[in-house]
Amino acid sequence: MTYPSSFVLVCAMNPCRCGYFGDASHRCTCTPSSIRAYLDRISGPLLDRMDIQIELPAVSYNEISGKTAPGEPSSEIRKRVNAARAFARARMTAAGESPEITNARMTPAQLHRYCQPDAAGSELMRAAYETLGLSARGHDRVLRVARTIADLDGQETIGERQIAEAISYRSLDRKYWRNGG
Ligand SMILES: [Zn+2]
Repeated sequence: MTYPSSFVLVCAMNPCRCGYFGDASHRCTCTPSSIRAYLDRISGPLLDRMDIQIELPAVSYNEISGKTAPGEPSSEIRKRVNAARAFARARMTAAGESPEITNARMTPAQLHRYCQPDAAGSELMRAAYETLGLSARGHDRVLRVARTIADLDGQETIGERQIAEAISYRSLDRKYWRNGG
């Protein structure tokens, strides 16, 4: 059986029934128990399997009316992604691995071998694991994402900066699903 070389699943949800829980400019009218019930529709273990989870603020009027500067065009982002993929492929090829093995598809042994942070990164990873209550799966996902951030930086070493950024992409399960699902 062959797998596609890349497969992306993107999901989005509101923070509560009214949509304003955690919003700085609107008041949420939900009760704590209704917010809990709403969030519980997504189980903690399911969320744990997402590589990246981020909280997005509501879109401002200026943004929807096009009064802000346009973002980076997709064509530019594609160039950076392709460069990062090439960087990762070169690493795998040099190590005698299949170049088709992307960071997301590494086995636990490969993860251990190719996603080891440097000393400062390891220290931050340890602190995050112990204080933020990351699961073992969450820990591995942080390393995979940090590997990808380093690849985007064109950097072989996974340092503190890449680990910190990867940890910041796991804010939701800590913030809202702390007690598991
Ligand atoms: Zn609400």
